[in-house]
Amino acid sequence: TDPAWQRELRAHFPIVTGHPDVAYLDSAATSQKPQPVLDAVFDYLTGENANAARGTYPWANRTTARIEQARDRVRVFLGDPAPDRSGVHFVSGATEGLRAVARDWLAPQLRDGDEIVVPYADHNANIVPWQEAAALARARGAHVTLRPMPYDDAHDYDAARLARLVTPRTRLIAATHVHHVYGNDMHVSRLRAAAGPGVPICLDAAQSVGHLPISLAALDVDFLVFSGHKALALPGTGAIWSGNRRGPAYAEAGWRGTPNTSGIVSLVAALDWLDAAGVDRIERWTRDLGARLTAGLAELDAYQVLGCQSSLAAASATQRRQGIVTFRHRTIGSNDLGFILAADGLLVRADGHCQGDEGEKTSSVRVSLHVHNSPAEIDRLLERLAALNHD
Ligand code: PMP
Repeated sequence: TDPAWQRELRAHFPIVTGHPDVAYLDSAATSQKPQPVLDAVFDYLTGENANAARGTYPWANRTTARIEQARDRVRVFLGDPAPDRSGVHFVSGATEGLRAVARDWLAPQLRDGDEIVVPYADHNANIVPWQEAAALARARGAHVTLRPMPYDDAHDYDAARLARLVTPRTRLIAATHVHHVYGNDMHVSRLRAAAGPGVPICLDAAQSVGHLPISLAALDVDFLVFSGHKALALPGTGAIWSGNRRGPAYAEAGWRGTPNTSGIVSLVAALDWLDAAGVDRIERWTRDLGARLTAGLAELDAYQVLGCQSSLAAASATQRRQGIVTFRHRTIGSNDLGFILAADGLLVRADGHCQGDEGEKTSSVRVSLHVHNSPAEIDRLLERLAALNHD
């Protein structure tokens, strides 16, 4: 049986307990919400809902204060040691956050001959904004070169090749923390070691916040962007952490209009819940479930696991895998497989997963886990996959 702490946390997810026949295996697309997050939103909307920074009455002032405190909550959750909340800005998600850094912060500074390192094998949300920044520069006559982020065979950062790629004209390195298809937790610290102190690094942490402990001090990046809805908060939430870099338009709350107040309330509740649950425990649990699935798939010769996980011998790489496992059947198309699994209540993601250069060619099935998932759900999935082993 599953440990008591996990059963207790699972019971916090009403959509999970309310659908005992469903195994939700798509948390990398969006996470389910624990009851305390829903309660916080309900209490706010029924208790003191108001716009921020506009009021002469307590609800409005409380809302303004909540948003300021929420910036601190995010800073602390991310392990920023500096007691300065002004580096946290709320956005609608990782996509908007990366676009804001690209368009509002980077693009205006770009000069002819500048370069940007772009992670072309990662999520489109971390590719397109940098292309747009280069296009904005080009429109005013400045040619900017986009250089592909070099990876090693385990889809991790290749420090030696990156060090050779970085020049005095490198204006930004765009990077990813946990890959949304391979699930590997990349060695972000290699980036700073390879790039030196002067080059800004922007980290897409969409798949890591809420899944593994984050320490900005250890990551040593200049920007970190994440989506709240993947970290147990409501859709339309997310944040940019930009340390002490000021000035971009996204930092001006008045310019951005009314903030997503109830969403920000949900984000604070989600971060509180994650801290109380223990992100390190969540990480170990989902990692072990992923390893259970990978080991089971290795027994079934009709399936091929994407990324370095295809070789169980790559034990060191496997250790750095989060709870995301992506695979293909040798003959059954991934969409068909997705529909077959859905008919049995096994909810997975099936397609190219918004991946940049590789995704177009490699449609696949992705299983992504959270703390409410159980070994029984993995076994149920494996049983269904085993029945299709030779189709
Ligand atoms: N980056 C990565 C690695 C992701 O997995 C995703 C979501 N699939 C995004 C960015 C974009 O996040 P959102 O859709 O919440 O803006």
